[in-house]
Amino acid sequence: MEPDLYKKMVNRNGFERIVDRIISFERAKMELDSETLLSVQFLAFPENLPFKQKFIDYWRSHNLEVQIQRLHSWGNKFDLDKDRDNRRYPCPYLWLYPTVTHTGKLATCFADFYDEMAYGSLEESSMESLWQGEKAFALREKHLNAKWGAITLCENCEGFLCMENGFEYRGDRFIVKGFD
Ligand code: SF4
Repeated sequence: MEPDLYKKMVNRNGFERIVDRIISFERAKMELDSETLLSVQFLAFPENLPFKQKFIDYWRSHNLEVQIQRLHSWGNKFDLDKDRDNRRYPCPYLWLYPTVTHTGKLATCFADFYDEMAYGSLEESSMESLWQGEKAFALREKHLNAKWGAITLCENCEGFLCMENGFEYRGDRFIVKGFD
Protein backbone atom coordinates (compact mmCIF):
# COMPACT_ATOMS: atom_id res chain seq x y z
CA MET A 1 0.00 0.00 0.00
CA GLU A 2 1.16 3.53 -0.78
CA PRO A 3 1.04 6.45 1.73
CA ASP A 4 -1.43 8.42 -0.41
CA LEU A 5 -3.69 5.45 -0.92
CA TYR A 6 -3.52 4.66 2.80
CA LYS A 7 -4.61 8.21 3.61
CA LYS A 8 -7.45 8.02 1.13
CA MET A 9 -8.68 4.67 2.47
CA VAL A 10 -8.47 5.31 6.22
CA ASN A 11 -8.77 9.08 6.19
CA ARG A 12 -5.65 9.79 8.23
CA ASN A 13 -1.88 10.02 7.96
CA GLY A 14 0.53 7.76 9.75
CA PHE A 15 1.47 5.19 7.14
CA GLU A 16 5.22 5.64 7.62
CA ARG A 17 4.87 5.35 11.39
CA ILE A 18 3.06 2.03 11.04
CA VAL A 19 5.74 0.67 8.71
CA ASP A 20 8.48 1.82 11.10
CA ARG A 21 6.79 0.12 14.02
CA ILE A 22 6.42 -3.17 12.19
CA ILE A 23 10.10 -3.11 11.23
CA SER A 24 11.11 -2.22 14.81
CA PHE A 25 8.99 -5.08 16.10
CA GLU A 26 10.64 -7.50 13.69
CA ARG A 27 14.11 -6.29 14.78
CA ALA A 28 13.22 -6.74 18.45
CA LYS A 29 11.96 -10.22 17.70
CA MET A 30 15.27 -11.11 16.00
CA GLU A 31 17.29 -9.68 18.89
CA LEU A 32 15.31 -11.79 21.34
CA ASP A 33 15.66 -14.81 19.07
CA SER A 34 11.90 -15.21 19.34
CA GLU A 35 10.05 -17.79 17.27
CA THR A 36 6.89 -15.66 17.16
CA LEU A 37 5.64 -15.51 13.61
CA LEU A 38 5.14 -11.97 12.36
CA SER A 39 3.12 -11.63 9.18
CA VAL A 40 1.57 -8.79 7.23
CA GLN A 41 -1.60 -9.05 5.23
CA PHE A 42 -2.44 -7.58 1.87
CA LEU A 43 -6.14 -6.93 1.24
CA ALA A 44 -6.79 -7.49 -2.43
CA PHE A 45 -9.24 -4.71 -3.22
CA PRO A 46 -9.19 -3.04 -6.66
CA GLU A 47 -7.33 0.18 -5.68
CA ASN A 48 -4.65 -1.85 -3.94
CA LEU A 49 -3.98 -4.49 -6.59
CA PRO A 50 -1.44 -2.49 -8.64
CA PHE A 51 0.79 -2.43 -5.54
CA LYS A 52 0.55 -6.10 -4.69
CA GLN A 53 3.96 -7.22 -5.93
CA LYS A 54 5.66 -4.18 -4.45
CA PHE A 55 4.07 -5.00 -1.09
CA ILE A 56 5.20 -8.62 -1.27
CA ASP A 57 8.76 -7.72 -2.28
CA TYR A 58 9.08 -5.03 0.37
CA TRP A 59 7.96 -7.14 3.31
CA ARG A 60 9.78 -10.26 2.19
CA SER A 61 12.97 -8.20 2.06
CA HIS A 62 12.34 -7.58 5.77
CA ASN A 63 11.83 -11.31 6.40
CA LEU A 64 8.13 -11.04 7.13
CA GLU A 65 5.58 -13.57 6.01
CA VAL A 66 3.10 -12.06 3.57
CA GLN A 67 -0.51 -13.19 3.41
CA ILE A 68 -2.76 -12.21 0.54
CA GLN A 69 -6.32 -11.84 1.73
CA ARG A 70 -9.22 -11.89 -0.69
CA LEU A 71 -12.15 -9.59 -0.01
CA HIS A 72 -14.91 -11.20 2.00
CA SER A 73 -18.17 -10.15 3.62
CA TRP A 74 -16.58 -9.65 7.04
CA GLY A 75 -19.05 -11.72 9.02
CA ASN A 76 -22.05 -10.92 6.87
CA LYS A 77 -21.49 -7.15 7.11
CA PHE A 78 -20.99 -6.44 3.40
CA ASP A 79 -22.77 -7.76 0.38
CA LEU A 80 -20.32 -9.35 -2.01
CA ASP A 81 -22.88 -11.25 -4.05
CA LYS A 82 -21.24 -10.42 -7.33
CA ASP A 83 -18.18 -12.41 -6.33
CA ARG A 84 -19.97 -15.16 -4.52
CA ASP A 85 -18.19 -18.48 -4.35
CA ASN A 86 -20.69 -21.28 -3.80
CA ARG A 87 -18.39 -23.67 -1.99
CA ARG A 88 -19.16 -24.05 1.69
CA TYR A 89 -17.42 -26.00 4.39
CA PRO A 90 -16.90 -25.59 8.15
CA CYS A 91 -14.92 -22.47 8.92
CA PRO A 92 -11.31 -23.47 9.76
CA TYR A 93 -10.91 -20.31 11.83
CA LEU A 94 -13.07 -21.86 14.54
CA TRP A 95 -10.39 -24.51 15.09
CA LEU A 96 -7.17 -22.80 14.12
CA TYR A 97 -7.23 -19.09 14.75
CA PRO A 98 -7.93 -17.80 18.26
CA THR A 99 -8.52 -14.06 17.97
CA VAL A 100 -8.16 -11.60 20.84
CA THR A 101 -10.07 -8.38 20.33
CA HIS A 102 -9.12 -4.90 21.51
CA THR A 103 -11.61 -5.31 24.38
CA GLY A 104 -9.72 -8.31 25.76
CA LYS A 105 -12.27 -10.88 24.64
CA LEU A 106 -11.55 -14.16 22.93
CA ALA A 107 -13.53 -13.91 19.72
CA THR A 108 -14.61 -16.70 17.43
CA CYS A 109 -12.66 -15.29 14.50
CA PHE A 110 -11.25 -12.12 12.92
CA ALA A 111 -14.69 -11.24 11.52
CA ASP A 112 -16.26 -10.87 14.97
CA PHE A 113 -15.26 -7.25 15.07
CA TYR A 114 -17.91 -6.18 17.61
CA ASP A 115 -17.62 -9.18 19.96
CA GLU A 116 -21.00 -10.44 18.79
CA MET A 117 -20.10 -14.08 19.33
CA ALA A 118 -17.11 -13.77 21.65
CA TYR A 119 -16.47 -16.79 23.87
CA GLY A 120 -15.74 -14.61 26.86
CA SER A 121 -13.34 -12.21 28.52
CA LEU A 122 -9.69 -13.15 28.98
CA GLU A 123 -9.66 -11.00 32.10
CA GLU A 124 -12.11 -13.41 33.68
CA SER A 125 -11.23 -16.79 32.17
CA SER A 126 -8.21 -18.53 30.73
CA MET A 127 -7.61 -18.86 27.01
CA GLU A 128 -7.79 -22.64 27.33
CA SER A 129 -11.10 -22.70 29.18
CA LEU A 130 -12.72 -20.39 26.61
CA TRP A 131 -11.20 -21.99 23.52
CA GLN A 132 -12.24 -25.42 24.72
CA GLY A 133 -15.42 -24.30 26.41
CA GLU A 134 -19.09 -25.05 25.72
CA LYS A 135 -19.67 -21.99 23.57
CA ALA A 136 -16.78 -22.80 21.24
CA PHE A 137 -17.77 -26.46 21.10
CA ALA A 138 -21.39 -25.61 20.22
CA LEU A 139 -20.34 -23.28 17.43
CA ARG A 140 -17.96 -25.85 15.93
CA GLU A 141 -20.67 -28.49 16.14
CA LYS A 142 -23.03 -26.23 14.18
CA HIS A 143 -20.43 -25.89 11.45
CA LEU A 144 -19.69 -29.62 11.36
CA ASN A 145 -23.42 -30.18 10.91
CA ALA A 146 -23.60 -27.55 8.13
CA LYS A 147 -25.86 -25.35 10.29
CA TRP A 148 -23.94 -22.11 9.65
CA GLY A 149 -27.22 -20.65 8.35
CA ALA A 150 -28.37 -20.52 11.97
CA ILE A 151 -25.50 -18.23 12.95
CA THR A 152 -26.02 -14.59 11.96
CA LEU A 153 -22.37 -13.77 11.52
CA CYS A 154 -21.54 -16.94 9.60
CA GLU A 155 -24.68 -17.24 7.48
CA ASN A 156 -23.40 -15.36 4.44
CA CYS A 157 -19.79 -14.90 5.50
CA GLU A 158 -17.11 -15.87 3.02
CA GLY A 159 -14.26 -15.49 5.47
CA PHE A 160 -13.88 -19.27 5.72
CA LEU A 161 -12.70 -19.35 2.07
CA CYS A 162 -9.51 -17.58 3.13
CA MET A 163 -8.33 -20.92 4.52
CA GLU A 164 -8.19 -24.24 2.72
CA ASN A 165 -10.91 -26.78 3.27
CA GLY A 166 -9.65 -29.32 5.77
CA PHE A 167 -12.98 -31.17 5.97
CA GLU A 168 -14.93 -33.77 4.05
CA TYR A 169 -18.64 -34.58 4.16
CA ARG A 170 -19.36 -38.09 5.47
CA GLY A 171 -22.93 -39.27 5.79
CA ASP A 172 -24.67 -36.42 7.53
CA ARG A 173 -21.83 -34.25 8.81
CA PHE A 174 -18.35 -32.96 8.11
CA ILE A 175 -15.28 -34.58 9.61
CA VAL A 176 -11.66 -33.47 9.51
CA LYS A 177 -10.04 -34.91 6.37
CA GLY A 178 -8.20 -38.15 7.05
CA PHE A 179 -9.65 -38.36 10.59
CA ASP A 180 -11.61 -41.64 10.70
S1 SF4 B 1 -17.75 -18.15 8.73
FE1 SF4 B 1 -17.02 -16.00 8.95
S2 SF4 B 1 -18.05 -15.24 10.80
FE2 SF4 B 1 -18.21 -17.48 10.81
S3 SF4 B 1 -16.47 -18.17 12.04
FE3 SF4 B 1 -15.83 -18.16 9.88
S4 SF4 B 1 -14.87 -16.18 9.48
FE4 SF4 B 1 -16.04 -16.03 11.38
